[in-house]
Formats: sequence, C-alpha cells, structure tokens
Amino acid sequence: MDPEEYRRAAYASVDYIVDYFKTIAERQVVADVEPGYLRQLLPSEMPQEPERWDDIQNDFDRHIVPGLTHWQSPNFLAWFPANTSFPSILGELYSAAFSAPAFNWICSPAVTELETIVLDWLAKQMGLPSQFLSDSEGGGVIQGSASEAVVTTMVAARDRYLRDAIASKYSTEEEKEAAIAAARGKLVAFASDQTHSATHKAALIAGVKFVAIKTHPEEDYALTGSAVTKAIQEAEENGLLPFYLTASLGTTAICAVDKFIEIGVATKEYPHIWKHVDAAYSGAALVCPEFQHYLAGVEDFDSFDMNMHKWLLVNFDASCLYVRKRKDLIDALSVAPPYLRSSVSDSGLVIDYRDWQIPLGRRFRALKIWFVMRTYGAKGMQEHIRKTLGIGAHFAKLIQSRHDVFSIATPPRFGLTVFQVVPSKSGETANSLTKKVADRINDEKVLFVTASTVDGLFCIRVVTGSPWATEKAMTEAFEYILKVSEEERQT
Ligand code: PLP
Repeated sequence: MDPEEYRRAAYASVDYIVDYFKTIAERQVVADVEPGYLRQLLPSEMPQEPERWDDIQNDFDRHIVPGLTHWQSPNFLAWFPANTSFPSILGELYSAAFSAPAFNWICSPAVTELETIVLDWLAKQMGLPSQFLSDSEGGGVIQGSASEAVVTTMVAARDRYLRDAIASKYSTEEEKEAAIAAARGKLVAFASDQTHSATHKAALIAGVKFVAIKTHPEEDYALTGSAVTKAIQEAEENGLLPFYLTASLGTTAICAVDKFIEIGVATKEYPHIWKHVDAAYSGAALVCPEFQHYLAGVEDFDSFDMNMHKWLLVNFDASCLYVRKRKDLIDALSVAPPYLRSSVSDSGLVIDYRDWQIPLGRRFRALKIWFVMRTYGAKGMQEHIRKTLGIGAHFAKLIQSRHDVFSIATPPRFGLTVFQVVPSKSGETANSLTKKVADRINDEKVLFVTASTVDGLFCIRVVTGSPWATEKAMTEAFEYILKVSEEERQT
C-alpha cells in the first residue's frame, strides 16, 4: 500500500466508522454465525500475491463484521461495558502510526512522560491518596488489563515478602536461600469469594496458594476485617504464609465493595501482606466526587487498579495501576542486560516502565487517554458516568416496579441490576425459570445479557455504560425482558 492508497483507504475507513456508530442501535447486538463460520469463508493458506485494498475491505465487510458482537450497542447489557470513543480511536490511530514500543524513556521520551502525567491527572481526579502520585515514592503505570495488574503486583509482593519477612532474618547467603526456598511453597494469597477470578489466576501463575474468603448476604457480600483476621489466623495455624490480599471496589457479579478501613486495621500487624484494590469497573465512578467516599481506608493499601477501558471512554487496553512504592515493582521486575541500559537510565532521572510490568515492549496507550481527557474534560467524563448511572437506575426502578415478576437479588450498584424471575407455577424454581429467560433472551439476540450465580441464586445481570446508551433503549430492553419473562412463566 503506497501513501496515496493509504490516504484513500484511511479516509474511507473513517466514513465507515462514523456510519457504524450512526447505525449501531439498529444492528443485531450478537453475531448470527455458527462456530467455525469463518474457516469456511477464508482460504486455508495465506495469500501468496499482494491483494488490492478494495477486495480486502470488501471481505472485511462481508465476512468479519457479521461475526462481531457489538459491545458499543445500547442493547449490549452483558458483563461490564468496554467503552470506546472518537478521541480514543484517534489515539489508537496515531499510536499505530508511530509504533514506538517505549520500554525505556530513551525509546521515545514523550511516550513515557505523557503516561506519568495522565496517570497523575487521573489519580488526582479520582481523589486517590497522595502515595499513588509520581511525586511520592509511588506512581502509576498503564497495564494491558486488570488481570495483568494483579499478576504484576503479586510477583512484586512475593519478592518483597521473601526478602523482608524471610531472608532478612538470616545473615549468610546460604541461610537466606534455604529459607526462601522453604517459604516459597507456603505463600498464600487471599481474596473474597466474590472477587474476580484474576486473583486466583495470578496465584496459579505466581506458583502460590489461593484462598477465597467466604462473604455473607447480611454483610452485602463485602470482605470484612473480621473475616480477614480469621483467614490469616487459620492460614498461619496451617503453616502457611499470607503475603497478598485483593479487596474489591465493585466485584464482577454484583459490584460488592469490600471494607477497606476494617481490612487495614485487621492487617496492621502484618505489614508484609501486600494489599491490592481491584476497582476494575466501578473505579471509573471515582471521577465524580460523590463516589470518592468509597476510597476511605485505601491509604492503607499498596496498590490500586482501574480499567479506563471498561467505563471511562478509552478503548481496550488501558488498565491504570498505581503502586505506593515503585521500588517494590522495580526490585522484583528489573533485569538490566547491557543492551537495555543507557546513560540516562543509569542517571536515575527517568522512568523506564519496562521495570513496572511483565513485558518489555509497550504501546503508546497514554495518547488515547490524553486525547479523551482533553476532549471530554473531567466534566464530560462525569456527565458520561452520571448519565449511564441514571440509565442503570431507571432500569432497576422498572424491575422493582414489577415485583410480581422480578425479584432483585442484591441492591443495584454502579448501574448494575441483578435479578431473578419469580415463578408463577408450583414446581418451577426461580433458578430454572431465570435460566430459561436468560437463555431465550440471548438466543433471540435482541439483547445480550450475562447470567451469574449469587450464593446459589441463578441471576440475570444487566448493566450499560455505553456512551450510546439511552433511557429509551433501556425502557425497550425492560419491556422485552418483561415479555419474555411473562411468556416463560406461562409455559
Ligand atoms: N476485576 C473485575 C472486578 C472485573 O470485573 C474484571 C473483568 O470484568 C477484571 C478484574 C478483569 O479485567 P481484565 O479483562 O482487564 O483483566
């Protein structure tokens, strides 16, 4: 593709994207294809000869787009949102053009410096404790995902624990190594039974044990200080070494919020336990001051992570991880062969983000964040959060208005409503009826919802955070869910 061909194709792709968003509400939200559909449409070998862009674009339109699920659609009510926005798309375009994998400051100083600046802006806007700002001993770094943030901090926590809580008790290198080897198999990470599976997966990757602490409906499924104390004591009685704990600000199934203040008190005697806040989805609401009370107690935590790529107008990937002590990450993750060193790195005056993450190379993700922050401003971002929360509250109210058909499983939070369909016939359980309704909704492909189980209750989760969501579309979604539910209650 020569520059003029690119110019034509790129202009056409912008028209395509604008038209896509203009028609998004009319498109079927879930792809209407069978597993393996694409293999039948594409050749079994890669092209040997160069092809014309028009043919490629045509096949993209005929074969790829029909296999897409439209996450930005107002009818996409599943999982959590995965926002994008026009300034974010422009950020990706420029980032792809420069393709500057700035693992070190010297690779492209603007890539590193912009990242530090926008993450500081975000931390201040969210009201995060000052320990997470880059002018303290901590700072922020963009990771690919909230799961990556948990693995990265867990590896740093493991390293810190083995050094400070184990090796420091011995004087010779041989003794230190033997003690570390003995301790490795006893390390245990905690999270609540509502926490996203990312912490369990991180424990598998880090080669440590994982314990899910039981939560209870009377406590709104929050992880409490007393539950943490009990879990630590039980682990120690079993000869295990607690070193990491994830607390959630908004769990995946029901948006439960753990008791940060109580957890801080419960772990006061255990300074070597790394405490991480997973605010992957709900943390976006913190850009509005009325939600910042949720941060009380977070000053006792070692790290905090929020995905802008869920609800904050930046497309995947943009997971914003903050640590209290950047040294903890660097100590665990810095490996510096001569080819990765430079005089400016050795001067200590710059950040080399390769030492704050698992991969070496990294994308210019700060650019799309900067574009979004400048285009929307804090006010525009707050408007987006408040508007989508209002749409979520509107849906919850509609569900609550029909308590003859629906029962709310947990209080609606952060725009998420979790409910069951109430049976009208004896012999039918709410679990089996709710499953029938959820399956039919997704089979008919008018809406896309997710089901989840809360304490044995099979529930439908509905949430929208799309900039394209409207109250009207949500009212229509409710009417459709009501119709399906009423029909399934009769059959
Ligand atoms: N934490 C919570 C609370 C989530 O809801 C999710 C995903 O929905 C994750 C972590 C994992 O996010 P990611 O896909 O960025 O790893």
